[in-house]
Amino acid sequence: MLIDNHNRTINYLRLAVTDRCNLRCNYCMPSEGIDFAKKNHIFTTDELYRLSEILVRQGIDKIRITGGEPFVRRDLMVLLRKLSQLKDLEDISITTNATLIGPHIAELKALGIRNINVSLDAIDKATFERITRRDQYDTVYNNLIRLIAEGFNVRINFIALENQNTQDILPILKLMQHYPVSVRFLEEMPFNGGSKTFNTLAWDYKRILAHILTEFPEVTQLQSPSTSTSINYRIKDHTGTFGLIPSFSRTFCGTCNRLRISATGDVITCLYGKPRSNLREILRGENTEEKIKEHILKAIGSRSKTGYEEQGKYENVFQNSMTSIGG
Ligand code: SAM
Repeated sequence: MLIDNHNRTINYLRLAVTDRCNLRCNYCMPSEGIDFAKKNHIFTTDELYRLSEILVRQGIDKIRITGGEPFVRRDLMVLLRKLSQLKDLEDISITTNATLIGPHIAELKALGIRNINVSLDAIDKATFERITRRDQYDTVYNNLIRLIAEGFNVRINFIALENQNTQDILPILKLMQHYPVSVRFLEEMPFNGGSKTFNTLAWDYKRILAHILTEFPEVTQLQSPSTSTSINYRIKDHTGTFGLIPSFSRTFCGTCNRLRISATGDVITCLYGKPRSNLREILRGENTEEKIKEHILKAIGSRSKTGYEEQGKYENVFQNSMTSIGG
């Protein structure tokens, strides 16, 4: 079992499989993209699997595959097939923009992968295209509905962006009211590759909730697991639920159970900091398992208590892009 220096059990790994993405969401990276990693700096499928195996032996029982966009990797299903055979890995989840998932839905279901988070920041096509800088709305929406219809446990991630998409907050709840889906509204974080910085947030979780209550006053707060990052609610007569994720306000750090590993091997113990070490060459060298475990223990043993504490330790953390740190 992995226990950090604040007595938090770490059992959840967010594993980025690429830093590349086929969208260019303006809150995540500049239109020209970022300085993407060289191909030989990105883990191969075998390496991702070996790393996962080691971490599962160390106490990880949930892995979320993220990126970049996981499905831009043509060999993603090879990895998922192998991970789904990994004894003691109880949960494989995926975060995706749902542009490329269509051909894989049947196999994902067959592999027993149930939890898919779909990023969708607008239900108005023109707004979606402005934010993502790509013409993919219809594909994303169709894949989202297919995933729900196929019985996946789908959560929509919607970042509330000042002057961009907040007019869609109420409409997306109306549109989704008869679907068994959770719409999660996230606070924007300043991880956009340096294109924009901010110290105060126009749409924090309290404002998002107040806005929702103007249209849907009858909401009930739901019980959530203690490690949940979202505060969850049900609107009267809605099938689905909604959640608020204070990703900038950082109210949930006290129960954080997460570790991140980027596609290039960076070990990240908090989004608001810098990598604690890099595992790529270690994984490619000798005595791999022992050394990886040592590095993980060291990282876990020196975690900041909160994202604010972590932010205070470094300069320039807001130059990062979420596509390389694995959102
Ligand atoms: N490509 C996949 C996707 O679109 O879901 C996975 C990677 S993406 C970086 C993971 C999540 O991070 C997405 O839900 C995305 O909206 C979120 N994200 C990216 N940049 C963000 C930012 N600056 N603030 C808050 N969330 C962000």
